[in-house]
Amino acid sequence: MTLRGDERMKRDNSRPSGHYRAMYKLIYESGKISKQDIAKKMDLSLPTVTQTLHQLMEDEQIVTDGKFSSSVGRRAVVYSPNNEKAYAVGLELFANHVTATLVNVLYEDLGSATINLPFTIELGYFQQLGNWVRDFIKAQKIPLDKVAGVGIGIQGLISSDGKTVLYGKILNCTGLTSGQFERAFGIPVTLFHDADCVALAEQTQSKNHEDATYLSIGEHLGTAIVINDRIYTGAKGRSGTMEHITLNSQNGHLCYCGRRGCIETYSSLSALLKRDENIQSFMDHLAQQDQETVQRWRNYLTNLAEVINNLHMFVDNRLVIAGELVKFLDDHAVEFINDRIKKITAFPEDEPYVERGTVQSRAVSYGATLQIIKTVLDNI
Ligand SMILES: [Zn+2]
Repeated sequence: MTLRGDERMKRDNSRPSGHYRAMYKLIYESGKISKQDIAKKMDLSLPTVTQTLHQLMEDEQIVTDGKFSSSVGRRAVVYSPNNEKAYAVGLELFANHVTATLVNVLYEDLGSATINLPFTIELGYFQQLGNWVRDFIKAQKIPLDKVAGVGIGIQGLISSDGKTVLYGKILNCTGLTSGQFERAFGIPVTLFHDADCVALAEQTQSKNHEDATYLSIGEHLGTAIVINDRIYTGAKGRSGTMEHITLNSQNGHLCYCGRRGCIETYSSLSALLKRDENIQSFMDHLAQQDQETVQRWRNYLTNLAEVINNLHMFVDNRLVIAGELVKFLDDHAVEFINDRIKKITAFPEDEPYVERGTVQSRAVSYGATLQIIKTVLDNI
């Protein structure tokens, strides 16, 4: 799909219209469009549109998809993007299992799978994972060469080229590279910070592209800042690691980073839950009004409000609570947080800025595919 420079030059020169990319974009964004509407919207003559459509069809970028219904005259042919042109797989690596999601060029979630596979950095792990990923793709009846890449969401900081884990204390995988996966997968691999994946998944699925701060709450906490619809990483990829801002570095609980009292130790699910509990059993007890559970939930939300208020002082935009907690966070909880913020903030605001995310499952593995598809589209 990606054209080499010389091929691209040749193609552009052989096509006097030069509208190839813009026309693909219009068809992609419209979903279904007629030749006449393309001519009107791009202010082009019908012969020019016909020529470019022909080229797009030849390159399998678009397909014809029946005809529009019309009560007068001839019915126009429908042009649509070819959703089978390319695919991407996203993985989320956990300590004991891996989740996969498959998407097409329209960012449509086509399927998912999970394997119990304890994380190690031994060769056998990469080989087993590679076999499983290829089987997953085959089971979806998709040729391997149509998969543009595998994105892997990792609980850690990743180099800006997506090739190396710079800091991976949770999985103890600092120094891990995309090449270790690539050699076993036979497909290009890019690594992503898991919280960035959640933020991109939310921006895409909610179709809300305004700037936002994301607080991804799962077993651990992840944070990301989106500015102009892109993850703000800073010069060295360390922006958006607000989970290690400390609220009480003297007497707080010990964080996995080695310090005390980080936000992680107040607002992650590990901070909320006891050792033998999971979020579902906690919520079951909460629904039964178990007093100890109710109190623990109130304390947790009180701390979360303080965390959110602090983060909002830095970056004054909407703050989205995302990740695993989303499906358990009801209106009462969001209201509780908003009321608490009003009481403690130095700058009371009329409109609440806290939002609840919309992606309820596999946000990381879905989000890990998005940058790969975007690159495919950018190269058309
Ligand atoms: Zn920490």
